[in-house]
Order: sequence, then C-alpha cells, then structure tokens
Amino acid sequence: MNTARLWHQPFASLFIRTRSVPARRPAAAAAAAPRAPGDVLRWSRAMTTRMEKNTKSFQKAKQKDTLRRLKTKGQWSSHGPSTVYLQVVGAGSRDNGASLYVFSEYNRYLFNCGEGTQRLMQEHKLKASRLDNVFLTRMNWENIGGLSGMILTLKDIGVPECVLSGPPQLGNFINAIKVFSGALEDIKLSVRPYSEETYTDQTMSVDQVPVFGESQSLGEGGPSSPGRGSPPRSPASSQRKELWNPVAGQPGPRPPSPGLVSKATRDPSLVVAFVCKLHAKKGNLLVPQAIELGLPVGKAAIGPLVADLKNGKTVTYEGKEIRPEQVCTPSDPGPVFLVVECPSEDFIDGVCTNERLARHHAGGPEDAAALVVHMSPEAVLKTERYQAWMERFPSSTEHLVLNEHAQTVHNIRSHKIQTQLNMIHPEIFPQLKTFNTTEEQASLRVSTIRAECLLKFQLRPTLEWQRDAMVPCDTEEFLKEASAVPEFLQEVEACRTFCSSDSSVQSGRAERYPEVVFLGTGSALPMKIRNVSGTLVNISPGQSLLLDCGEGTFGQLCRHYGDRVDEALANISTIFVSHMHADHHTGLLKLLYQRERAMATLGKAFSPVYLVAPVQIMTWLNQFHDHCDHILSHVNIIPNKFLCDGSEVPKYKTKSFIQALLKRNDLHKFQTCHVRHCKNAFACSITHRSGWKLAFSGDTMPCDAFVDIGQNATLLIHEATLEDGLEDEAEEKRHSTTSQAIAVGMRMNAEFIMLNHFSQRYAKIPLFSPDFTDRVGISFDHMKIRFGDFRVLPRLVPALKALFAEEIGEMEERREKRELRQTKLEEREERQEQPAEVREPRGTKRDQQGAVSPSGDTKRLRAK
Ligand SMILES: [Zn+2]
Ligand SMILES: [Zn+2]
Repeated sequence: MNTARLWHQPFASLFIRTRSVPARRPAAAAAAAPRAPGDVLRWSRAMTTRMEKNTKSFQKAKQKDTLRRLKTKGQWSSHGPSTVYLQVVGAGSRDNGASLYVFSEYNRYLFNCGEGTQRLMQEHKLKASRLDNVFLTRMNWENIGGLSGMILTLKDIGVPECVLSGPPQLGNFINAIKVFSGALEDIKLSVRPYSEETYTDQTMSVDQVPVFGESQSLGEGGPSSPGRGSPPRSPASSQRKELWNPVAGQPGPRPPSPGLVSKATRDPSLVVAFVCKLHAKKGNLLVPQAIELGLPVGKAAIGPLVADLKNGKTVTYEGKEIRPEQVCTPSDPGPVFLVVECPSEDFIDGVCTNERLARHHAGGPEDAAALVVHMSPEAVLKTERYQAWMERFPSSTEHLVLNEHAQTVHNIRSHKIQTQLNMIHPEIFPQLKTFNTTEEQASLRVSTIRAECLLKFQLRPTLEWQRDAMVPCDTEEFLKEASAVPEFLQEVEACRTFCSSDSSVQSGRAERYPEVVFLGTGSALPMKIRNVSGTLVNISPGQSLLLDCGEGTFGQLCRHYGDRVDEALANISTIFVSHMHADHHTGLLKLLYQRERAMATLGKAFSPVYLVAPVQIMTWLNQFHDHCDHILSHVNIIPNKFLCDGSEVPKYKTKSFIQALLKRNDLHKFQTCHVRHCKNAFACSITHRSGWKLAFSGDTMPCDAFVDIGQNATLLIHEATLEDGLEDEAEEKRHSTTSQAIAVGMRMNAEFIMLNHFSQRYAKIPLFSPDFTDRVGISFDHMKIRFGDFRVLPRLVPALKALFAEEIGEMEERREKRELRQTKLEEREERQEQPAEVREPRGTKRDQQGAVSPSGDTKRLRAK
C-alpha cells in the first residue's frame, strides 16, 4: 500500500470535528476482501457505500473550503479586514526557531515553519486547517524543517491548496519531500518565488524582497546555513563528499534525480524579506451623529450618501453640507509590517542598502512601517550598521526581535506533565531544562520588544501589543493541581518508600550506563504531550546512539539537556532510522546541523554520524543537498539491509563503516531485520561487549524475525500504537496492540519490555491491558531509565494510574461502548440483518471514536 498515507492515519481523526478526512482507500478494504464468493456482493456494496461516503465527505470539505475562499474574496474590494494581528509561535530560541502566525478574519498565514511549529500550533490552538499561505525567509532547515510534516497534515485534513512563498528552491524542496510522502496529489501546492509579482488577497498585499549576502564567504561548500547566533561552521561543510548512489545502494556516481535537473540549485546567499500592507478600511457610519444631522438613517436614500461619505466625499442632503469626519470614524489606510531575517553579518549590507525596505523608513515614499520583525541574532543587532538602519524608521515603528535570547516557555503542556511526573520519581522523570545562549545581548538604541510565545501585535482595529493569549508556565500551580488528585500523593509516597528501602533498587541505580532517554513516544504527528519517535541510548559517558529521529527530536533533546545539549549532541555517533515514515526521520537534518554546531562550540573535530537507515533515505538527502542545503558530509550511510542476517556482503566502504560503528560504540553486534509495517521497514537489536542487549522494534505488527534478533534482550523497546481490542485497526495500519507487543517480548524472553509509539489518542497514558506484568513499563517523553530501574518501573504504575485516573476512566468508557457496539453488530450479523451502514466504515468509525480522547481532553483543559 501507499506507505505515505499510513503515517498519520490514526491522527487525521483528530481533526474530524473541524474538517472531514479526505477519502482514502483503507488498507482494510483490501485486507478484508471477501474469501467466500457469497460474500462478494455484500462486500462490494459495503465498499461502494464506504468509498462514496468518504468521497462525499471529502468533496464537502473541499466545497466548504472553496466557499469560504470565494465568499471572502467577494467582500475584499470594499472592506479591508477588521481584525488583524501577528502572533509569535516560535520565539527563535534554540529549541523553537522563529515563526509567526498572522490572523485576519479572511486569511491565516505562517511566516517560517521550523521543526516543532506544527506542535506549537496544535498546543496553542492556532488552526493549521485555515492556513492559506506559508512565507519562508530562507532555504534553511531552521526555517523549513517543519514544512514536510505541515504539508502532510494539511493534505490529510483536506486543505485543498497552500501557497508557499520565498526562495525559488521551495519547488525542489517539495520534490524532495515526495520521496517519502508520495505524490501529494490531494493538495495543490503552489510555489511563488520571490521574483513573482506582489501577492494580494482579501487581507493584504505582500511584496517579496530578495536580500543577498556577501557570497564570497558563502560559496559552494561554504557555511550554507549559518544558524542564528551560531558559531562559525566547522570544516565539515567544506568537505566535498563522495556521492551516494541509492539505486545501487553503494557509494558511487549518482544518476540525476528523476524529474529534476541534475544541476544543483542551492543558493545560500539569498534571504527573502516580506513587506506586508493591509488593505485600507473605510470608516464606519456613526449612527447617532448621522441622525442628529438629519440624514435619512434606516431609509433607502441613505445608501448612496453613506457610500460617498465612506469614500471621503462631502455630501449635501436637504441643503445641508455634511463632511465625512462629522458622521464617520476615520478610515484606516492599512498599516505596513516588515518581516526581515538577517541571519548573519554577511547579510547586513544587503538589508541596510535595500531600497524596497527603505521605502518604509521615516520620510520614505510609502507609509512608514508600523512594525518591523527582526529575525536576527545579537551579532547582527549589535553592529553599528544595523542599529543605524533600525533608527531610520520613525519612533512610532515597533520592533520585534526573535532570536536565541528569547526567554519564554513554548511547550507548556510538556512542562506541566513533566513537573507532575517528576513528583513520582525525580530521576526517572527529570525536570525539563532551558538552553541559555552565552551570546551577549546587544544594547539597542531603538526600543525593541523581545519575542515570547503567543505574544501578539494587533494591526487592526488598533495598533497595540497584546499579552492576553500568553499562557503562564506556573510550576507551583502544576504541583498544586497534581497534589489535589485523589490518592496521588499516597501512591507517590508508597513508591518512594519502596525505592528507598529496596536494596536491589539502591544497588541497581549505581550502574549509570546504559541509560535510555525517551525523547518522543507518540506516533504519527507531533502533539503537545507526546512528540514523535526518538530514543536516545547513552552507552557510556561519551557514546550515544539515537533510535529514530522524528520531527522535533532536537527540540526535545534541548529541553532535556538544557545547557548540556551540546555535549549530548557531540556524543551521538550513530543514528538508526527504522523506516521512511515522517514520524521517524524528519528530525534528522536539524539534529545533524545542531550536532555540527555543537562540535564547533566544544572545539571538537567534526566527524559524520553512522546513519543506519533504509537506503532510500539517500534519495531524500541527495535532493535536499543538491537544491536546498549542504548535508551529505554529515553522514556515513550504512543501509539497514546490510545488517540483516544472511544479507549480501556489502562493499568495502560499507563494511568499514560497520566495523567503525561497532568499535565506536563498544558493540559486539548491530543487527537489523525486515518488519511487518511498510516497505523497507526495519527493527534492530544491539549487543554490547559487556553483554547487555537492546532490541528496538520501529513500527511493526508482531514479527517473528524481530523475535529472533532480539532473543534474550535485556531491554525491548516495542511499539504499542493501539490498545487491546483494536486488533483489526492495528492490522490495517500495520501496528501492534499493547498485548501483542508484550507477547513479542515474552517470546523474545526479554528481561524488560518498554512500550512506546502510542497513538496520540492516548496522549497522557495508554490503556493498561491485563497482561501487564512486572516486566512491562510504559514510556513517556523525557523519561530516563537505566537497567537498574527495571524493578522500580512497575512500582510507578499505581501513582501514574492515580494521576491519570480521569483519562483512564474516559478511555475505559469508550472501550466499553465500543465492545457493546461490536456485540450488537455480531448479534445482528447472526440474524443476517446486515445493513451496509452498520457493517462498513469500521476503521473510520474507530478513528472518530479514538478522536474523542484528545478533544475530550481539550474540553477538560479549557474548563480547568
Ligand atoms: Zn510511526
Ligand atoms: Zn510507520
């Protein structure tokens, strides 16, 4: 089946309330094809209805959307928008790069879409489903890292069209995404490079202004993506790498990517600034004043008079001259705001001498800017040139700065749950940390506002800063709330008593390595509580291995290690990617770029990572490298298939990488096997020289080959996407249920089983199944375990159950309802009354049912 469609199927359901899920031919349709000829008719009838129904709902969603777009279009010439504000999503901190959301009643826009943007939008209820436009200031992973995930989500929730504006390589970037997303036929993606004319819609007009850097220091192989505030690049970027041929699966000359010109089109010396001007809004008629002056309010004759008055004309009525200002509020010509990224000193000249931007300076030929957004590091801000440029705007201009100096908590829900889990066990659930930049803050002559998550600048009706949407991160409140949960504190106490009195727990904790840090434990798409797949295995104080790397893995690492994130990054020598679903690999590039930065900061010599991954990943990386940003020198690829038992013998280079990987990590063995998920999906098992063994499933249905390579593992990390009772759905999506995962662990004779990769419907906690034993634990983001913790982990369960009693209660209720429905269905089938509408969309109905959890959760949160 089309693997691209699989990756977030369970989650499309989360959006059902706002928009129907697009039609897709469920895998179950094929899997559940009738075996007996007598069933054929019934099956085909059910299928037709199911597909029709899905198609209808999809079309309805599209129609609704087109209607919205048309309806608003008609109004646009006469009425500018009444409410427009710009809101900070990512404030530019190291873990949440700069991004802005702009709202009007007609349109929604996003400026930049780094990793984690989608997650923040989900947490803070900024609807992706209404996005019309994404503006990107630069072809740099920092700005576009979250775009592939965002596009897949927009496609899945039925957004028919999205316009991407900015660097011309965006088209190539989209082609590179197609390597793992499939054709993206359901969504129309248009790229508007900066060379296109002014963009205009119902809300505003946007001019794209190219700004060129000093290219001599940024040429081919040069530091193509200076991170904001990042130190200079290490020589890694200038190493010319032998290209990889994914077709042959070996190093060697690479044929040009299909559908692409073979010529590299990367242009690191270009950034795009945006000049946005709101449409003018006419004044409103002041009714009491109009009545007082004798105008025929409420009568037909008023129409043309009001039209003239609103257009600024003086009218004469019954011999009386009436001026517009007597009866109308003043008209608003439409404020201008600029979004400018000046990523490094190389671009200062380009920005400061730019004539298009200068038009909005004080005394310029066009309206002075009401707001300038600076996505610029302190190194730029502190230069005399840049400050002088800022001073050329009038004193009425507001300046908003987004960079690593941002002091703001973005992922509040994650902080909340971590604070509460920390009460249960402070070492297994350590508090989240913040990365504080060491870069000195520039003292600015112009008054500026530093970005904070959700800070708003309202452009209409009045120009003002608004802080009402900002959510406080109140640790005390989180603690208080958990303490008030019935029986929670008692269970915490019981757990603590056990830990302090049990001698083997005490001795077990003395062994610090290996240590497993769960960075992302949710499936499909990043959500506020669980991020997507990423598990760090710290083998020793200086050696780490990463298992899968979904979007936002770096952000999680940053919030886990705070100021020590550079050490953590520099320790990672090996990354295993199980398969090419976006929730498992789209965080790879950010991790690699940040690792390079970390090594430079620490003064360590750069070395590429060993990337153990499906060889297809190289098609994506090659395309990205050619057209977007330098990346190939960061990886030594070891195709997963060469680590399978009985695989063909790799060529010398791959063999030497395998040897080096084992040596670097003190491993005796690194094995992989094909699993039952999508094409080219793998699990792995690693055996350390000291004897311990760790098996990691990636995504899979119960798989015999994995049982073999993981035999006698010390720790098994197995996906448990769905709860028991949802076996059909699990099969359809080729995932495992809780009990299936546990059964694999038992057959493997694993000493301990950690379940992860939970469907986002189990955001806080998955449902426990009866076969949970003292050899089974459940993972949470930021959970840190050592092998000595195996005795403790089951002891955490009563406290967890108490803390999440409400969620568990709701999930159990849903399960009961589902079981009741199933019983009724079976009874009806027995009586051979099989109306199609009851028999059919099993998968779809379950998705909706599953979706109750997150939305129910939202409702409760709002109530709190
Ligand atoms: Zn997955
Ligand atoms: Zn998958």
